[in-house]
Amino acid sequence: MDINSISIAAYIVASLLFILSLAGLSKHESAKSGLTYGMVGMVIALAATIAVAVSDLNDLDFAGVSFNKWLPIGLLIAAVVVGGLIGLWRAKIVEMTGMPELIALLHSFVGLAAVLIGWNGAIQGAHLHDVAPDDQGAIIGIHAAEVAIGIFIGAVTFTGSIIANLKLSAKMKSAPLMLPGKNFINVGSIVVFAVLTGVYVARDDHADTTGYILLAVITVVALLLGLHLVASIGGGDMPVVVSMLNSYSGWAAAASGFLLNNDLLIVTGALVGSSGAYLSYIMCKAMNRSFISVIAGGFGIVAGPSDDTDYGEHREIQSDAAAELLAGAKSVVITPGYGMAVAQAQYPVADLTAKLRAKGVDVRFGIHPVAGRLPGHMNVLLAEAKVPYDIVLEMDEVNDDFPETDVVLVIGANDTVNPAAAEDPSSPIAGMPVLEVWNAKDVIVFKRSMAAGYAGVQNPLFFRDNTQMLFGDAKDRVEEIISAL
Ligand code: NDP
Repeated sequence: MDINSISIAAYIVASLLFILSLAGLSKHESAKSGLTYGMVGMVIALAATIAVAVSDLNDLDFAGVSFNKWLPIGLLIAAVVVGGLIGLWRAKIVEMTGMPELIALLHSFVGLAAVLIGWNGAIQGAHLHDVAPDDQGAIIGIHAAEVAIGIFIGAVTFTGSIIANLKLSAKMKSAPLMLPGKNFINVGSIVVFAVLTGVYVARDDHADTTGYILLAVITVVALLLGLHLVASIGGGDMPVVVSMLNSYSGWAAAASGFLLNNDLLIVTGALVGSSGAYLSYIMCKAMNRSFISVIAGGFGIVAGPSDDTDYGEHREIQSDAAAELLAGAKSVVITPGYGMAVAQAQYPVADLTAKLRAKGVDVRFGIHPVAGRLPGHMNVLLAEAKVPYDIVLEMDEVNDDFPETDVVLVIGANDTVNPAAAEDPSSPIAGMPVLEVWNAKDVIVFKRSMAAGYAGVQNPLFFRDNTQMLFGDAKDRVEEIISAL
């Protein structure tokens, strides 16, 4: 068997492992094995790709200088080792709260790689004129289209992900950028791309100065579009953007697969692209947003801030009084949010849960689909702290139960429990379904101040008659309650 047949077999095995990985990641119980499948698949894919590269390469002649074929192979392996070590180091030191921005940064790398592969394809495409057979016109045209589309998707992903990284790490304000005619800018950029790509593909020669200028303009338009698309999306709608950029990074990889003639990259890119698109669709449904308007970067257009409203006075509670309230409760629902991740409060929250359940209190968790800063963020934290899966419920499973709930503990959640989403049509988060915690008998909100949540809107829940604020770091306060109990 030659190396190409072995690599095809390896690519099929890797593709199957990636599919198993995605399937595994869709459930808590199988998430760990899903990750293992993915890692094994990636090792097989890299080994097969390097083996093919070794067998394909001949000694190179570049700008009149000859290079032994082992030089580029050595560089390739060195790049994999250095990149792998940096990846290991970053993964080890990253805080759970830093994961979302790290993932956005990783998406930007996929986008940048697609841009570079596209440009490399454009430069190499010049040689197709020498080697292609009679029907070279069609082959060269398809290749040119792959180049332009790959560069476009890659560049949008690259700059869009950088803006997402800045917004998620709070280095940039989460409020939407409202340039006049923002929809016109987005649609106009896509039209410019389509026209320039048509001109580029239709030309006989793609590797002359005009061809490169056309590609350079496509690259710049796409880079600016990526910046604008994500900058014009408001904080509350960022979850959909994260999954959308995930999807774009998949399509960028698939486009690179076509250019590099690498089937595995096409399959893997399509898997990431389609699963990311499906996740975006689920997120849109969960947040009651239009899928098309997200893809067009059209979020946050109509809503104006509703922050000036005077909601009156809030009430405060101390940890021992909160413990007393919990001790007398029959049913408790805990709704965690991003603040639980910041405080790393999941462990004491799990202890508190165990303690209350041991006393016969019915304790359950209500998880909003966009709580935290990543899809499934809260589920991961609670699984880490070994909270039993069967008491961790989705928003829809718990929302009707609040009227029969004695106490709700809102631990570091804000936007996801904001009644303005349901009651104030001018709110930036209007229309987003939220956990209707205010219907419970008593609500205790754990946070450090009266500050707004990620979407930047004040929360009228904090001023309701049945709500009491427990100020301070969520971990410290939960630990105090455990001691008091
Ligand atoms: P929010 O981000 O709305 O609010 C979190 C709250 O936690 C803050 O109000 C903060 O208040 C409090 N907090 C922070 N640190 C601590 C601490 N140490 N102890 C106690 N409280 C703390 O959280 P939600 O989870 O309710 O909502 C998520 C938001 O993030 C939504 O707007 C969502 O759209 C967005 N988002 C979600 C993504 C996802 O995929 N899940 C991705 C991107 C954005 P204070 O400072 O006063 O303590």
